[in-house]
Amino acid sequence: MTPKEYKELLKAEQTIRKYKAEINTELIKLTSPKTCLKCGKKVEVMDPQEPFYHFYPHEGMWLGGGVFQMSCGYGSDHDNTQFYGALCDDCITELHEKKIIETDSDLTEVKTEYLKKLEKGKIDI
Ligand SMILES: [Zn+2]
Repeated sequence: MTPKEYKELLKAEQTIRKYKAEINTELIKLTSPKTCLKCGKKVEVMDPQEPFYHFYPHEGMWLGGGVFQMSCGYGSDHDNTQFYGALCDDCITELHEKKIIETDSDLTEVKTEYLKKLEKGKIDI
């Protein structure tokens, strides 16, 4: 690579970084903060510099709550649409205690119990 080519490469990298920063700034205005679906409290992005928040908000870190992804499938008027919503920590706790929402562990526990009963022949298929 010649010095001139290297200089052009650096300039191109700076341009790409500048545009990525501008896109992040614009997207964060659209995506944050999220509003808790139940009580209306704000759930804020923890680190606005992380670009994945904007494209996959449910994978990011949020202060005081969480963001989830809801996929609508066949049978829904919203088939093939992904929605993102938020719940604050207090509402997550309340909904979980009332068994309105489940964790992965809850579902694993149910599956494990079912398989144990199935193995013991207590469930007919
Ligand atoms: Zn809430």
